[in-house]
Amino acid sequence: MYVTDLQHFLDMPPDAPGPARRLAEHLRGIVRAATAGDAQVAWESALPCRRRPANRRCPGRLIVQRGEPGSPIAWRCSTCGDDGVISNWEESPFDLRRRRPALVGAVHQLVLSYQTASALRELLFPDTELERLVFGIRAHSGDAILAVTDEQLDELTDAVAAEANHESNRRRRQRLDAAYDALNAVTGPADRR
Ligand SMILES: [Zn+2]
Repeated sequence: MYVTDLQHFLDMPPDAPGPARRLAEHLRGIVRAATAGDAQVAWESALPCRRRPANRRCPGRLIVQRGEPGSPIAWRCSTCGDDGVISNWEESPFDLRRRRPALVGAVHQLVLSYQTASALRELLFPDTELERLVFGIRAHSGDAILAVTDEQLDELTDAVAAEANHESNRRRRQRLDAAYDALNAVTGPADRR
């Protein structure tokens, strides 16, 4: 079991070695997912496992659970059983807990690919609500399930389009364009009204 303190991963210098930066990004993702979802229940996020047993990527997704403030976030892989806990996550920039009650609206469950979920996690989020939506994406039978209202979906689609338009890195732009197409494909105007 990996026991980590998030505080050690908050101020990673830009020139930190790649493996250290990737580990920090991984742990921050777990905290974002665990704080995006409900407290007390363990749920399977779309975050991939980092392990590569026998040099092949583990296909598992990370199951996350957040208990009371003051207790660590727990995570484990759905497939290989790799697991850990992360302490000192409260009030960090990756703590996405709601400060206000959620607005109630009709919520759709959109089925996306893990690739799209991964591209969405790279967004520079204009606000915490969208970040919470994306890190709250659940894994289910090989798909990524995004729970959104019409309004949230419009905001998310706009955010992806805006970022794709300003992206100079060709490969990242392609990932964002693909995510934009995927969001539109599941939610063409005809389906939504
Ligand atoms: Zn695994």
